Amino acid sequence: MNLALLGPSGVGKGTHAVELATRYQLRHLATGDLLRQNLQARNALGLLARRYMEHGDLVPDEVIDAMIEEWVGRQPASLGSLFDGFPRTADQVRFLDELLQGLGRRLDAVIYLRLDDDAIVERLTGRQICRSCQTPYHHRARPPKLAGWFDHCGGELYRRPDDTEEMTRTRLRVFHRTTEPILSHYADVGKLLIVSGAGSVGDVAQRLDVAVKAIAAGTAQ
Ligand code: AMP
Repeated sequence: MNLALLGPSGVGKGTHAVELATRYQLRHLATGDLLRQNLQARNALGLLARRYMEHGDLVPDEVIDAMIEEWVGRQPASLGSLFDGFPRTADQVRFLDELLQGLGRRLDAVIYLRLDDDAIVERLTGRQICRSCQTPYHHRARPPKLAGWFDHCGGELYRRPDDTEEMTRTRLRVFHRTTEPILSHYADVGKLLIVSGAGSVGDVAQRLDVAVKAIAAGTAQ
């Protein structure tokens, strides 16, 4: 099974993708995480990506496509993939189709995790992330026992520089303008499932689980 999980930043893709990948034995690739790793390593790709990420813009397709090709090439063919935050543009859609086709595989379904803009802004401006295990955390909804440190693994909590209200609104505009049309494309070809990202982590996890079970059983549409 090859799946893509899409939705605006802050909808909870990261939280749920890790869980789904473990449960359904999928290799998880979050393009945003991969870009941040390159950024931290201060390598050429990270330096190139930084100026786009800092402004809430999409990193150019050719950079993302090369990163995906390299990653897919390293995965065992027997396992499926869960693309998290990819594809986000029409070019990336074409690229992924061709790449998977070349490997005798295909994208089975795209799950759109949906939440309205104001709820996204509320979530992101309160988000902190654990430096050590990358778990996102909402400090207003569930304050850590020790301010600044993650309860579960003891890692330091930090705020992403692009999680300000202004940057979040910019990223939402980019999402509506560039990524929503590709969701329409996947709806047209019968591959889109829409799952509400509202409510507790447990509620959303349950809805996603129902969706993925239906995809796996071939009864999703
Ligand atoms: P995310 O972690 O998904 O919120 O992504 C953070 C930032 O990484 C985005 O605002 C973009 O600048 C960049 N990014 C992540 N995934 C992609 C993608 N598929 N295409 C272009 N840029 C991306």
